[in-house]
Amino acid sequence: MLIILIITIALLILACVFMLWMRVSLKRIIKDLRTNEELLRQENKSLRYRLDHDPITGHTNWLSMFDRIGHSPEERILPYTLVHFDIKEFKMFNELYDHKVGNLVLCFVSESIMKADFILASARCHNDNFAFMVKPEYDENLKETLEKFFEEMKYVPGYEERPLYFRCGVVEKNFSGIARDTIADMAKMAQAMGTKKNCTEIIFYDETMKEDLLKGEKLLNDLPEAFMRDEILVYLQPKIDPKNGDIVGAEALARWNYHGKEIWTPNRFIPYIEKNNGINMLDEYIVERVCRQFTCWIDQKLPLHPISINLSQREIYKESLVDDLVSIVDRYKIDHDLIEFELTETAAYEDKEYLIRVMRRLKEVGFRLSMDDFGTGYSSFNLLKDMPLNTLKIDKSFVDSIGVNASDSKGQSIVEDIVRMVKHLSMISVAEGVEDESQRDILMKCGCDYIQGYLYSKPLTIEEFENKYLTT
Ligand code: C2E
Ligand code: MG
Ligand code: MG
Repeated sequence: MLIILIITIALLILACVFMLWMRVSLKRIIKDLRTNEELLRQENKSLRYRLDHDPITGHTNWLSMFDRIGHSPEERILPYTLVHFDIKEFKMFNELYDHKVGNLVLCFVSESIMKADFILASARCHNDNFAFMVKPEYDENLKETLEKFFEEMKYVPGYEERPLYFRCGVVEKNFSGIARDTIADMAKMAQAMGTKKNCTEIIFYDETMKEDLLKGEKLLNDLPEAFMRDEILVYLQPKIDPKNGDIVGAEALARWNYHGKEIWTPNRFIPYIEKNNGINMLDEYIVERVCRQFTCWIDQKLPLHPISINLSQREIYKESLVDDLVSIVDRYKIDHDLIEFELTETAAYEDKEYLIRVMRRLKEVGFRLSMDDFGTGYSSFNLLKDMPLNTLKIDKSFVDSIGVNASDSKGQSIVEDIVRMVKHLSMISVAEGVEDESQRDILMKCGCDYIQGYLYSKPLTIEEFENKYLTT
């Protein structure tokens, strides 16, 4: 009996201990389960965050920018102006300093976007590319708003010596109703039109851009073959001394014998390849072609006159410009002072210090320099006196304002002033686009040194030029 009692009590104690253990274990299991659930929830949250945000700046990314304003890709509606931009020469920050500084710049831009009250939603898209949508109430003075925004973002604290310049494409809200990725492509297309250095460009998308860009890409693809098949031609237009009618030089002007079917003048292809590096390929090809021509004339013992070659703005701002030009000309062993490079005033809009530096280097290595189309661009006399120019070409618009068909009664005194100033700066003046004798006579009276224009000759093929001006 006693044994049974003891066993029962022992069993009861065991049962109690077991129950107690069960309770503790269950509690622990429930707690663990809860913790796991919490962890899972947190992990999900962090995964979501990582999916929606860029790890460097913490900025929302392209897809989540649209989620924020509740637009699914299927909706095909974007009733907001979209801005897409990048930082010009961003890689310099990584190269000059290090990646940490590069990241700091990205964070600075990201913070500036977050602070801007005209922005509805934004994203860091990739690398140094950002996008944002504009609140509709700011659409009215959009350009000014954007200019102010980019200006305020120009200096990164601590790195003020390297201001930020932006390339910005804008698609206005009247383009809504198009798939959002297409809108982005349109904005990027406008953005790609920004090719200048050291200035912020804000470019609004318009329908012609697409066609121009596609055309530019097609011509860029066609160029290498066009070079190989000698479809890119150099025409030469003489520069004449009006006092005696002698030739003093010529300008090389590009023509494209497109697929051997039709001769295109520059306006049919240069505006399109200016948007991509086709223009660099063209400019360098013309330099090479002119040098090749000089070697033929040297071999044939024909007289040599300096040839001027147009340099596009894009070419001028190419880092390796001077070395590349010297290497082409030296390959043909041509005297540098037989080559004159024509630059346009508009190049000075971007970065005049840089332009002057490049000009000085070109001059140091012995090339001649000329300012083309003078009067159509900057026309700052201050700037001119700092430029190491040999020649100044008075634009056709001034020449049109003198002579029997003059469009402007003040024309002559303006031309007189320009010629006087050119003389004062010890440069040579060349008047462009001279078509009749009355214009030539006035130009001579004003003291203009040389004349280029249909009055003497249209641009000629090399063969015509040789026959007319080099052989006797
Ligand atoms: P530009 O350098 O100012 O060249 C002068 C332009 O005026 C030439 O047009 C020439 O044919 C034209 N012209 C000359 N005299 C007269 C005249 O008496 N009356 C009229 N109406 N026109 C005259 P073109 O050959 O069509 O060249 C146009 C522009 O294309 C050039 O203007 C130059 O800016 C650019 N260009 C031409 N070849 C090249 C090149 O190889 N590289 C670059 N970057 N640009 C080039
Ligand atoms: Mg020219
Ligand atoms: Mg010109």
